[in-house]
Amino acid sequence: KERTLGVIKPDGFSGNYTERIKEVIVEYGFNINKEMVIQLDEELAAKFYAEHSSKSFFSSLIKYMTSGPVLVMILEKENAVAHWRDLIGPTDAGKAKLTHPQSIRAMCGVDLEKNCVHGSDSHQSAEREIAFFFKETPSD
Ligand code: ATP
Repeated sequence: KERTLGVIKPDGFSGNYTERIKEVIVEYGFNINKEMVIQLDEELAAKFYAEHSSKSFFSSLIKYMTSGPVLVMILEKENAVAHWRDLIGPTDAGKAKLTHPQSIRAMCGVDLEKNCVHGSDSHQSAEREIAFFFKETPSD
């Protein structure tokens, strides 16, 4: 089975969406292998989103991601990376409400930035991101 990293971002966590999101996760056949609540500081958030460091929205993204605790989860099932991306829906939660009303971002997100959840975008980034949060030795 494949693993992916799911994160409930500060707006999702403080907005009390955690239980509903977890229900959806279990309903769709994911196993939550590990989970951890963590308050990111600027350094960790910047490291996690390093690929976006040159983007205009970077400082706003860091402010958002450090605005409160997040819930980080290792999600496991066949094809977990693609399935979790499908389930969370498009990056822009405002658009998700129109085009993917059943998605998690439609349920709890607000806009292009405040989209309440994260999902790794490939098998490689999933393993890298899992290692980043759970101090595992990265595998393949
Ligand atoms: P994530 O990596 O969090 O799952 P994603 O892969 O859908 O999201 P990315 O393009 O990797 O989206 O962007 C990372 C995060 O940065 C987004 O989830 C969102 O919170 C924020 N973001 C992306 N694009 C913008 C933008 N144009 N303006 C503001 N925030 C943005």
